[in-house]
Amino acid sequence: MAPKHQAPRGTRDLLPDETARWRWVEDRARGVLERYGYGEIRTPMFEDFELFARTSGESSDVVQKEMYRFKDLGDRDLALRPEFTAGVMRAYLEHGLGGRTRVHRLWSAGPVFRYGRPQKGRWRQFSQINCELIGSPAPGADVEVITLFVDLYQAWGFRDLTVLVNSVGQPASRRAYGEALRQWLAPVHERLGADSRQRLVSNPLRVLDTKDEAEHALFRELGAMPRLLDHVDAEDRAHWDAVLAGLDDAGIAYEVDHGLVRGLDYYTRTAFEVHDRSLGAQSALGGGGRYDGLIELLDGPPTPGVGFAIGLDRVLLVLEERGLATGGGEVVCVVAMDGTRAAAGALVRELRREFTVEHDVETRGFGAQMKAAGKSGARFLVIVGEEEWAHGRVALKDSKLGTQETVTRAELADRLRARVTRTEDRP
Ligand code: AMP
Repeated sequence: MAPKHQAPRGTRDLLPDETARWRWVEDRARGVLERYGYGEIRTPMFEDFELFARTSGESSDVVQKEMYRFKDLGDRDLALRPEFTAGVMRAYLEHGLGGRTRVHRLWSAGPVFRYGRPQKGRWRQFSQINCELIGSPAPGADVEVITLFVDLYQAWGFRDLTVLVNSVGQPASRRAYGEALRQWLAPVHERLGADSRQRLVSNPLRVLDTKDEAEHALFRELGAMPRLLDHVDAEDRAHWDAVLAGLDDAGIAYEVDHGLVRGLDYYTRTAFEVHDRSLGAQSALGGGGRYDGLIELLDGPPTPGVGFAIGLDRVLLVLEERGLATGGGEVVCVVAMDGTRAAAGALVRELRREFTVEHDVETRGFGAQMKAAGKSGARFLVIVGEEEWAHGRVALKDSKLGTQETVTRAELADRLRARVTRTEDRP
């Protein structure tokens, strides 16, 4: 019988095997972010609803359909964060960071919440790593952020990823492009779904964002889609050319995707995404772009910025499917005999300062301990035998190398140190 209480729909528990893999992924990312000079910022998991409504756009799917919005007991209108950027920008303004130094490099990681229909790769609570480079309008900033984006996936063992890039221009060029899209879609207007027809009025670019395969088939029927890049002004064009040249110089593989428009209103100029087809419909592993109008939208001074969010749950799904995600580090199991239990206890405590160590806490016999050690999958077995211990020695078995040797207590840690592969050392 199923237990009475289950995790809410669209959420899940991560058990120790999984959290070990998650930690590996997070630790790897942290290393890359630090080497790029990004500082961590932690903002609340909920904010005023109004903040998200302003930044994401009242008409966006996120605000209309996906928000975990609630009133607290003080009647405040709040929402669980559906993404990081709005909260980070709120904090940037609240703490006057812009007045301190011109350019800020910030990252965050943690859960975000969206009320969507759960399916493979889509949860209602999921985790993101988010990065922002605030304060620079230069194409070099876009290039740095995209390079960082790619280097994170590389650090997790992804190879041959292609970044899709596009320019979404400025609000004015988007309006002109929206008009071109309406004309292009006119012949199939009647065959579009209700959502898309509605979007054609409120925000035609979003029609391209549809998840409906039948609509994508209609687009293909229509042939050459108008290109936003044909509607951007000279400055946006120069910015775009400089970003592509910078990506070429950095050796980043990219493809221009004219249909890439990103879901939110605040993007300007560069937009980018990376996908993995093994994920099926929910194939986006991460995405981002430039958002030069965002801080003004929050009544701040004109401040350019560029950033991205990576969906960690999907990253882990792909890594697990490919057997790439590593679990915890290698384990040492210490087995004692009746006469060496106290000594083994002290040895365990000492080894635990450095290694992952298991041992028996139930004063079981030698045979039972050996059986448990075999089951646990520990690579190293340290047997503290009475006879050997009397001479200051223990037996060290290495199941990976298939060796067994007798070492002095003083040598033991050195021997383990030389052989053990720690989680953080894994390729
Ligand atoms: P977005 O802010 O929508 O661009 O999302 C950034 C990344 O978060 C996406 O590329 C996905 O990898 C991930 N993501 C978005 N929505 C979900 C979800 N409901 N469940 C799991 N991951 C998601």
